[in-house]
Amino acid sequence: MCGIVGYIGNKEAYPILINGLKRLEYRGYDSAGIAIYNGETAIYKCKGKVSDLEHYTSKKSLVGFVGMGHTRWATHGEPNDINAHPHQSMYGKFILIHNGIIENYSQLKKILEEKGYRFKGETDSEVLVNFIEYIYLQGKTTAEIAVRAALSKVIGAYGLVIMCSDEPEQLIAARKGSPLVIGVGDGEYFIASDATPIVEHTKSVIFLNDDDVAIIRKDELTLKTVKNDKIIQPTIHQLDLDVDEIEKNGFDHFMLKEIFEQPRAIHDTFRGRISLEKKEIHLGGLYNVLPRLVEAKRIIIVGCGTSWHAGLVGEYLFEELARIPVEVEYGSEFRYRNPVIYEDDIVIAISQSGETADTLAAIQLAKQKGALVLGICNVVGSSIPRETHAGVYTHAGPEIGVASTKAFTSQVTVLAMMAILLGKKRNVLSNERYEQLLTALANIPDKIEKILQNSEKVKHIASIYQNATNCLYLGRGYLYPVALEGALKLKEISYIHAEGYPAAEMKHGPIALIDENMPVVFIATQDKTYEKIISNIQEVRARKGTIIAVVSEGDTKIKEMAHHTFEIPHTEEELIPLLAVIPLQLLSYYIAVMRGCNVDQPRNLAKSVTVE
Ligand code: GLU
Repeated sequence: MCGIVGYIGNKEAYPILINGLKRLEYRGYDSAGIAIYNGETAIYKCKGKVSDLEHYTSKKSLVGFVGMGHTRWATHGEPNDINAHPHQSMYGKFILIHNGIIENYSQLKKILEEKGYRFKGETDSEVLVNFIEYIYLQGKTTAEIAVRAALSKVIGAYGLVIMCSDEPEQLIAARKGSPLVIGVGDGEYFIASDATPIVEHTKSVIFLNDDDVAIIRKDELTLKTVKNDKIIQPTIHQLDLDVDEIEKNGFDHFMLKEIFEQPRAIHDTFRGRISLEKKEIHLGGLYNVLPRLVEAKRIIIVGCGTSWHAGLVGEYLFEELARIPVEVEYGSEFRYRNPVIYEDDIVIAISQSGETADTLAAIQLAKQKGALVLGICNVVGSSIPRETHAGVYTHAGPEIGVASTKAFTSQVTVLAMMAILLGKKRNVLSNERYEQLLTALANIPDKIEKILQNSEKVKHIASIYQNATNCLYLGRGYLYPVALEGALKLKEISYIHAEGYPAAEMKHGPIALIDENMPVVFIATQDKTYEKIISNIQEVRARKGTIIAVVSEGDTKIKEMAHHTFEIPHTEEELIPLLAVIPLQLLSYYIAVMRGCNVDQPRNLAKSVTVE
């Protein structure tokens, strides 16, 4: 979660590090810190935002060509100045920044306390830096050997950058479970927890693998693993990312920019993959495993948060279009409940960042049990695409806003392409139906554009409900996952309590909550459950609930019953989620802005959940 930046070279480190930390702010964090070496190492850290750190350091002279910066998302110990990173070891030999969790930190802490070590804060990371120092001083060894020896005793997840006062012209980077990317410049290296701080400096990068340890000097990088002293030849990749993709480009927030980017993002998701002329869907990343997919007896989709909601849409799609039974699981539940997985199962892992810890663990379990594991991820080169047998990138471009928007619609687009393709290959879909769906998918970006042109209408509705304390979202069929996603968006960024339900379930509990103070958002387009959902709307009306409804263009029936309606264009029923979710994203965005919330970095949330 949180962020890491490091720099070593001939330039002033401070501006590179502060700017890098700002680029990483989207990931969510609670404190920030920086360490720069110039004869000795200065450390500054504080609770709050990177701007607070900047303010704090504004009067200090922070000169130096080697340094590192961190944004912390607290797991062990409250967010305060002391627990913020970097952490320095008791005898001052090592300074460390850490993303992740050291699971056996209490055992290590006990050993160290018996040796006389004392701790300033409560973090697991401070234990690790002292453990490294303890090994270093005991063994009278080098920083590299001490780090590798310490890490061989560590259980847990980490992305680390480490400085040693005896070897100051060097940074050591190590990863396990928490991503690290190294940018390769001319006589300089950049380290970061994702590529966003690096891209403005260089496009040549090395993605560290689990257990890698990189010993970095300004003109030399040596790559080894924790357990093996043998030098590995690093593979240098070229980033396909531009700086303007990670800027706001005139929008007030990244989230708004990303909502408005959806026509392009979805187009990029299917570009080169669907051809209307040839009537073809071509998913290169699945080419080698296609025969196995066509024969699939069952698909299990795993994900967390918004990706799990995309997975639920996927369940309806695969069952309807390809007649393959599907189960959708939370990564966290799947990995701990000894699930039944057969060798002919297909497991699809969905994650925007490709680093979601629970989803990664679920993949490992599924692989052990012999299933074919596929990934649907946005971040190229991230862990999940590297851990899976095959997969499809969403190509939605960087998503910076913590509340996911374009990642959701691009994930659903990939799932739709897969389901349509399998439906065709399994002879479930007639040629005519197949072509209808293909054309409808190709027309989705224009239809989203049309919805976005009406965003002022959603803004008006938002102004009426900005002070709500609760909100219910109801939908049926394909629109039930959309109801869940709408509710999640609202609670994430506006902190209004919101629940999503299948509309018919309302009678089994939530109806008790309905009175004149409860806005109910119905997603009620003209599909096969239209008449049924109209009855649900009547039930809410009868109890004086306020009704906001997302309806199909030209709808008249619901207009008469609802307090507010928002129309979306017609499309094939299977693809309605891609349109219906847009006004819900806008509604939560405008409400959050009107309530003065920090839309792009909502409290307590992180963009990439790399801890379980
Ligand atoms: N576990 C560490 C802490 O609580 C690191 C958290 C992080 O990933 O920022 O300080």
